[in-house]
Amino acid sequence: MEQKKALLCLAHMSGNEIKYIQEAFDTNWVVPLGPNVNGFEDDLKRYVCSEKSYQAMGTSEELYPNETYPQTIQPHENNPESLWKKSIQGLENKELVALSAGTAALHLALVALGVKAGDEVICQSFTFCASSHPVTYQGATPVFVDSEADTWNIDPELLETAIKDRIEKTGRKPKAIIVVYLYGMPARIDEILAIANKYDIPLIEDAAEGLGSRYKNQVVGTFGTFGVLSFNGNKMITTSGGGALICDGKEMKHRIMFFATQAREAFPYYQHEEIGFNYRMSNICAGIGRGQMTVLEEHIAHHKHITHLYAEGLKDVKGIHLHLNPSADFDSNYWLNTITLDEELKVKNQAKAYGKAITGAIGGAAGFVHSTGEAHTTSEPNTNVEAMRLELEKEGIESRPLWKPMHLQPVYANSPAYTNGISEKLFKSGLCLPSGPMVSDEDVRRIIEAIKNCIA
Ligand SMILES: *Cc1c(COP(=O)(O)O)cnc(C)c1O
Repeated sequence: MEQKKALLCLAHMSGNEIKYIQEAFDTNWVVPLGPNVNGFEDDLKRYVCSEKSYQAMGTSEELYPNETYPQTIQPHENNPESLWKKSIQGLENKELVALSAGTAALHLALVALGVKAGDEVICQSFTFCASSHPVTYQGATPVFVDSEADTWNIDPELLETAIKDRIEKTGRKPKAIIVVYLYGMPARIDEILAIANKYDIPLIEDAAEGLGSRYKNQVVGTFGTFGVLSFNGNKMITTSGGGALICDGKEMKHRIMFFATQAREAFPYYQHEEIGFNYRMSNICAGIGRGQMTVLEEHIAHHKHITHLYAEGLKDVKGIHLHLNPSADFDSNYWLNTITLDEELKVKNQAKAYGKAITGAIGGAAGFVHSTGEAHTTSEPNTNVEAMRLELEKEGIESRPLWKPMHLQPVYANSPAYTNGISEKLFKSGLCLPSGPMVSDEDVRRIIEAIKNCIA
């Protein structure tokens, strides 16, 4: 029998999605606006502003006694409101705009902040390219800042150094700061916000991977001027493709909606005074999103459960470290579980790693990749990491190197960078492991066995 594949983060449907989509067809709302878009925004708004009230967070043994997960994911009767009753004080003003992608949400945050050609925007270097690419869409320059060792997210001290240095060198302040919640882990938000406020620079939180992660009980994405969410196929929940922007107040929401729908002025004919974009979420995708909201907390509980199993299984394995919340203030959604390997750890077939050039996308990721025909770049994961990836692949287990920092990407060779070596060291020593709602307890056990077996 063919072995079931363990993939990084595969989407999982609640069964409620089809109901909302059917409703859209029945009522003829197959357009980028409509009742599902409004309903999805309402659900999201209640969710991101809510106190942690959901009670499914028992121990994993209580939650999943019979190991038949994910079949045991039970959608809540399509009334997420009952779960997210109580709002955190001070967040009453937050608004949500559903968009076609997380990348679009980040882009519109920059547009709304007036980021233009010649401006600089500070961005966490250790991230996926969608955090910084929209800066370049505006003709602006990203200034990359390295991470700190506990959260893997932007280093507050280095952030302040960078701000001061940019002001000294250019005579102007950076227009915004983009912090990222990599793999779902909250950043040191208190310190980052204090610096943003001290220099009066707006903070954009890229919470694309961090939906539902909390810092001191508050959902990430609600601390700054803007928060970015993604509902791409591999994220915590999916709308097949989509995103949302968290912003302050109805007026800002309307401004974002204006830019997301081609910036049309109020006339009987098309009249344009500003450049807009076609970035609104469709009513069909929003229908999927409403269905997904009924399993969001279950998904997060499951990701945490998987982390718990990895922690148990790897605790006695020397040379391998699981990335965990640094303290009780941090409550990661553990979107992806990640490990780092000591450089001294020997892995089977390590000498053969990088033997041949890769021609396709790792893990069969969507889209087309360009093949350079080269097996090496100037900064790549250590040979034991690549050897482990290949050994796991033989067992039908998908793993992936940690994201390569943006300051090491050739496309950003001309961007200023403030580095401390941490993100590069993490990139060279780390792997992401299967973590999604379709990963069962049995899968995790098999993955841990496979990891142990490939140690030489
Ligand atoms: C996925 C992702 C995005 C972009 O989201 P899309 O919906 O795919 O456009 C942005 N930032 C980070 C860190 C991401 O992981």
